[in-house]
Amino acid sequence: MTDKTWMREALHGHYAQSFTVDELLYDSETDHQRLRVFQNGTFGRMLTLDDVVQTTEGDNFIYHEMLTHVPILAHGAAKRVCIVGGGDGGMAREVLKHAGVEQVTMVEIDAGVVEFSKQYLPMLSQGAFEDERLDLVIADGAEFMKVTQGGYDVIIVDSTDPIGPGEVLFTDTFYGHAKRALAPGGVLVTQNGVPFLQGEELTNTMRAFQALFADATCYMATVPTYAGGPMAFGWGTDGAARSVTVKDLTERFASTGIACDYYTPEVHKAAFALPGYVLKLMP
Ligand code: SAM
Repeated sequence: MTDKTWMREALHGHYAQSFTVDELLYDSETDHQRLRVFQNGTFGRMLTLDDVVQTTEGDNFIYHEMLTHVPILAHGAAKRVCIVGGGDGGMAREVLKHAGVEQVTMVEIDAGVVEFSKQYLPMLSQGAFEDERLDLVIADGAEFMKVTQGGYDVIIVDSTDPIGPGEVLFTDTFYGHAKRALAPGGVLVTQNGVPFLQGEELTNTMRAFQALFADATCYMATVPTYAGGPMAFGWGTDGAARSVTVKDLTERFASTGIACDYYTPEVHKAAFALPGYVLKLMP
């Protein structure tokens, strides 16, 4: 095949992955980044920003279910949730499945991502943008976190990688502001890349979390299009949410009536078991 029919993601110096662009549905420069939506034979519709895979129709469920149901079900009574980033709407989709969640504030820097996703990736948001409980704020998440009144039971950072506009969302200052915006017992979770390839990113976040939270760790899941092994999600709280039992999770999960393709209470608990090479990245 020629270069024209492949999208090459070269996020990590000496290692790249490629996807066939079976049909290019959109290709444009927004004010912040190059946005492409295309159809791929294995993963369905794919969204890339600056030639880095953000989300795909085929495997987004793993990422979105694990960044929402783990903190919300561990918390047990989340009413107010903040999503930072998340422009494709997949995170809001999963959060809003919880009937107990009364208000979701989503702070996305790029209105273009929201608009394109609504049009070209409606299977991701599945109507989430029309839900009355969703308050969409178009702003830099770091600036928002500096000034918000907060009171969030769960904050989910669904950011791009720490390059470009997403960089500020990996700073100690942002994490400090996010902690301040949590209600007592609140949980902060973050997308922290693939530790096999982005170990420094995890170490830096964990160093910041350890200075801020009584309970600071990460949990993991494998998302095929985030190449290089399992990815890490940062976890920080001053509460006891991590010690929730499988029995309690099973009851809470059943009472939501939510159907998942990846999340189970057992997977939830097991996701916090970290392999040796990841433990070594913990400061
Ligand atoms: N999970 C994906 C990944 O790791 O590849 C990323 C998902 S995508 C929804 C991330 C979103 O974060 C994008 O829509 C991007 O515009 C948004 N974003 C990046 N920097 C941001 C910032 N400083 N404040 C708010 N949103 C930001």
